[in-house]
Amino acid sequence: MNDDATADGMRPPSIDRLARSIADTGLPHPLLVDAARAAVADGDPSDAGQRARTIAEARARSLLVGVVNATGVLLHTNLGRAPWEGVPGTGATRYSNLEMDLDTGLRGSRQDRAPRLLARACGAESAIVVNNCASAVMLALAALAAGRGVVISRGELVEIGGGFRIPEVMEQSGVRLVEVGTTNRTRRSDFETAIGDGGVALALSVHRSNYRMTGFTETVQVADLTGLGVPVVADIGSGLLDTACPWMDAGPPSWLEGEPAARQTLEAGADLVTFSGDKLLGGPQAGIIAGRADLVAACAAHPLARALRPGSLVLGSLQELALAYLARDGDAIPFWRMATVPVDTLRERAAAIDPDLAADTTAVPGGGTLPGVEIPSAGLVLPGDRVAELRAGTPPVIARVTDGTTVIDLRTVHPDDDDVLRAALDRIG
Ligand SMILES: *Cc1c(COP(=O)(O)O)cnc(C)c1O
Repeated sequence: MNDDATADGMRPPSIDRLARSIADTGLPHPLLVDAARAAVADGDPSDAGQRARTIAEARARSLLVGVVNATGVLLHTNLGRAPWEGVPGTGATRYSNLEMDLDTGLRGSRQDRAPRLLARACGAESAIVVNNCASAVMLALAALAAGRGVVISRGELVEIGGGFRIPEVMEQSGVRLVEVGTTNRTRRSDFETAIGDGGVALALSVHRSNYRMTGFTETVQVADLTGLGVPVVADIGSGLLDTACPWMDAGPPSWLEGEPAARQTLEAGADLVTFSGDKLLGGPQAGIIAGRADLVAACAAHPLARALRPGSLVLGSLQELALAYLARDGDAIPFWRMATVPVDTLRERAAAIDPDLAADTTAVPGGGTLPGVEIPSAGLVLPGDRVAELRAGTPPVIARVTDGTTVIDLRTVHPDDDDVLRAALDRIG
């Protein structure tokens, strides 16, 4: 007898039989039963078997799986942004010393390792890690300015993708928004006046990650916000650690120009910086608050820090990433490897996959960073819209349509997956 039948005695035997007949889809039995029920409820019993199989296969495909990102968007928000899975421990099922100090055997802090290494890598006194950059900003504001004013330029009251709107975040943090200047022009004196009026706890500078202002504009740099008597928090967003990119032998790629980095923003006088783990940092989803030790400690002591803390998978993965940065080993960071691989290498790979389809393409950083920046790239270009067919394979290949052609961009594809592309092209013919 099977346990499920006894646990769910009301189920007609045909549902159970139907569910068992599609067991090869690999789903656990309760999900097969759901698929069978849906198929039976959906009409003609004679082809319920095929419908159940289709439903089960669709459900299996809708699970979180690895995909080949052939879009040329390096930080693709729908594909998990940066490609990183450096989790230490080599697969053995072990506990970790997440909150134990191995010297004393006493309780330790989960914030002692990856955050400390990241602080070291960007020249900060101290750092903590939370769930993402949105929560980093929220925590910093709540911990340092709840019930008081936070002064910010009107030109920086931005919306970052996914509904992250600075005015709303400030409201949720319980701080009073003190906006100064105008949309296109803000000066240091605007901040001085607002702070002089009293009740202001800090100055906030937000990188306009996903848009640009040109023309009759004037912005206040972080360096211009120092010496005003309140701490300066700079939300730089993307998590570039150092504009010099010392982890890459060839130095920074030219398209990175103008992107703020944690180290230089702190050197310019920011008391804290906040940034994402999965944009230009190239790691897992996380948010980092780095800077003055007393301010970081205040953030860590706030009740929200407990609610926003990351788990061992993220902290372990960030630790590996920070060690790679400290070792100046950009090759160990897939994002940087993909971002900087020479276009000639991509051309050779494209020609090896299919010389008839090989063509030059254009990749982009993505992830709400560096708007307008294009990175020369190469890949395979097919006539027509073939993206749904490519997406239907295993593993799914995610391509893009440009001007009536399907573009498979190799800049965002790991070389090991070139074989997958070859097979996918064979399959769709
Ligand atoms: C992307 C971004 C955020 C939000 O970061 P998440 O890690 O997605 O929460 C906040 N601020 C700036 C300036 C950003 O660019």
